[in-house]
Amino acid sequence: MAIILDGKALASKMKEEIKAEVAELNANGVFPKLAVILVGEDPASQVYVRNKGRDCEEVGIVSQTIVLPAETGREDLTELIRSLNADDSVHGILVQLPLPDGLDDSEITQLIAPEKDVDAFSYYNVGRIMTGDYSFVPCTPAGCMELIKLSGISVEGKNCVVIGRSNIVGKPMAMLLMQANGTVTVCHSRTRDISGITNRADIIVVAIGKQGFLTGDMIKEGAVVIDVGINRCADGKLRGDCDFESCAAKASYITPVPGGVGPMTRVMLLKNTLNAAKIQEVSKNV
Ligand code: NAP
Repeated sequence: MAIILDGKALASKMKEEIKAEVAELNANGVFPKLAVILVGEDPASQVYVRNKGRDCEEVGIVSQTIVLPAETGREDLTELIRSLNADDSVHGILVQLPLPDGLDDSEITQLIAPEKDVDAFSYYNVGRIMTGDYSFVPCTPAGCMELIKLSGISVEGKNCVVIGRSNIVGKPMAMLLMQANGTVTVCHSRTRDISGITNRADIIVVAIGKQGFLTGDMIKEGAVVIDVGINRCADGKLRGDCDFESCAAKASYITPVPGGVGPMTRVMLLKNTLNAAKIQEVSKNV
């Protein structure tokens, strides 16, 4: 039976570390601050934004939530992001996605100054991830890497399979595993014989949004399974992209849903904001 990689516990330990670092910065007159922009009234986005505010509060990061009506135009949003880019007291800026119809997620995200882009979605930061020289890593893949580290299994030389190739999870995940010297295969909806590929994998990260997709017969004995998926099921419960029972019976380590990658994603945003504050304050003093 697999050992559970407890993301909730790890995230809470990391929060304590971040809190201590924030206190140290505060003592030196630096107050890390995250600005979160929410456009419209999407209920899921409202919950995510509220959680971000709470997380910041827990570790002492100042958070500012700016809520705009769904009809907000491109010009007004652009103006707001430009003013936050220019505001020295703001270290991190995040636009909650998806934006309402009429606003282009990608276009708006690119307006955030790279040094304040704590989601690491800007092309500049994506490019830096490609080269391995980066300050921010997208929160979910960064959280997955921490969970793999927690398993104590080194990625070096291992067969790693990422299922899903989105810009925010699958692709950067593959890059991070490659930089950790894993041999990486990326599967997607057009991949043939996924089972044949996952059956050879030492480490599997699944991020597709299909409940119970990865089953025990698709993995080898002792594999490490990281489940990114979040699927709201008919019974109201959240479940991942793995069939937990059958995968846990064969894996050496597995993340639960909820309580695995989710809390790690949240804590990584705090870590990126802290890093942003440190980098910006250092550059001010140079
Ligand atoms: P996405 O943008 O919808 O991408 C899904 C990816 O899965 C695509 O690359 C797609 O392939 C691939 N895919 C879909 N069906 C497949 C199949 N049957 N076999 C193989 N590949 C398949 O999703 P995302 O934003 O990466 O999110 C993925 C999941 O992770 C969702 O459940 C999301 O809620 C969850 N998530 C969780 C967190 C967290 O903090 N825990 C954070 C982000 C996302 P194509 O490219 O060929 O279409």
